[in-house]
Amino acid sequence: MKNTGIAIVGAGLSGLYAGHLLQRLGIHDYVLLEARAELGGRIASVNAAGPSTSDTIDRFDLGPTWFWPAYQRALHRLMDELGLAYFEQFESGDMMVERSSDERPLRMPGYESSPASMRLIGGMSTLIDALRRTLDPTHILTGQTVRQLCATPTHIDLHSQDSSGRLTTWRAAQVLLALPPRLAASTIAFAPALPQALTQQWRATATWMATQAKYIALYDSQFWRAQGLSGAARSVCGPLREIHDASMPGGSAALFGFFGIPAHVRKKVSTAALRQHCRAQLARLFGPQAAIPRLDVIKDWAQDPWTASVTDLDAMMDHAEAPVAMAASGPWQGRLIGIASEWSPHFPGYLAGAIEAADRGVQAVTIRR
Ligand SMILES: Cc1cc2nc3c(=O)[nH]c(=O)nc-3n(C[C@H](O)[C@H](O)[C@H](O)COP(=O)(O)OP(=O)(O)OC[C@H]3O[C@@H](n4cnc5c(N)ncnc54)[C@H](O)[C@@H]3O)c2cc1C
Repeated sequence: MKNTGIAIVGAGLSGLYAGHLLQRLGIHDYVLLEARAELGGRIASVNAAGPSTSDTIDRFDLGPTWFWPAYQRALHRLMDELGLAYFEQFESGDMMVERSSDERPLRMPGYESSPASMRLIGGMSTLIDALRRTLDPTHILTGQTVRQLCATPTHIDLHSQDSSGRLTTWRAAQVLLALPPRLAASTIAFAPALPQALTQQWRATATWMATQAKYIALYDSQFWRAQGLSGAARSVCGPLREIHDASMPGGSAALFGFFGIPAHVRKKVSTAALRQHCRAQLARLFGPQAAIPRLDVIKDWAQDPWTASVTDLDAMMDHAEAPVAMAASGPWQGRLIGIASEWSPHFPGYLAGAIEAADRGVQAVTIRR
């Protein structure tokens, strides 16, 4: 049995930011328990030079890419505090549109988003790296899947399991749930049970982007820009429905796309076959060079058990309204608080939501200490 003041379940952006806030407040009796081997949760990237390189610039987002500083103020402030460099999504030039598999793709004037979507140099993983550096590494444990939470009058016992099946019990005064509400309600056992209405709300909250998959293709040059194309495309024929330039300043040329094929269909197709279809589509849209990327990668979030649950596979791609973050009465009241992005009232599902929800959760637990 290991004792701690605050246990944070999940080391995605919300969990790491909660740890960062606690340390800033001088609170050091906390532990971060993360199921995956890596930190970051839905923030993940592929490195152009391979997984073992120390290059942190030439990285490409498999999860979130964009933020909007004009109205996501707290996230913007954090990025500035951490000294992160960012740039505007490249959107200059014409875009390509595929309206039917019987017609050749059309070239159309592109449009520029307003306010501009911003990207981080080195990809969104740079934010995770920077936050991790602010934390005491002895407080972070990866490969620890929290399976059960048991509340007693004085504490909460968390039972976690590592990859070899070994169980550990953590005794905490308070718990911050930094994993999506639906995942928390469907994969963690609570004893005694959470209030029924709360469980229902959490289960009903779709995990943002859990149904999605991304394809990323890296090239030696931005050959599409040389043709006056922005790299943006829309397609109803697929497999990709929305494509963007993903090039990294000071790094590789790249395109990325979101799949239009539903998760349950993707599951039946091999990665190799999906990759071939993506290459063929990019060649139709941007020319033959697009068929021979230097490296291409697919990340299917719907098949990732630390993000998606079975219910998410049938879910609509909607930003759900934020569910209640804690029980209003009973043994869990004030001691168990949801802080993942979906619990954010203003930006549910977004990166900015992870910051808002973590901030609210840390305020709530520190008031009670
Ligand atoms: C493809 C994609 C594109 C996106 N694009 C954008 C974008 O452009 N802009 C934007 O603002 N947002 C975007 N998002 C959403 C953004 O990624 C999330 O809002 C944000 O990363 C959520 O962070 P979080 O910490 O709240 O949750 P998560 O990142 O989901 O973190 C939860 C953590 O909990 C861990 N965990 C789960 N179960 C357990 C358990 N039982 N025990 C211990 N640990 C556990 C998980 O492994 C994970 O590390 C996108 C998401 C995806 C998938």
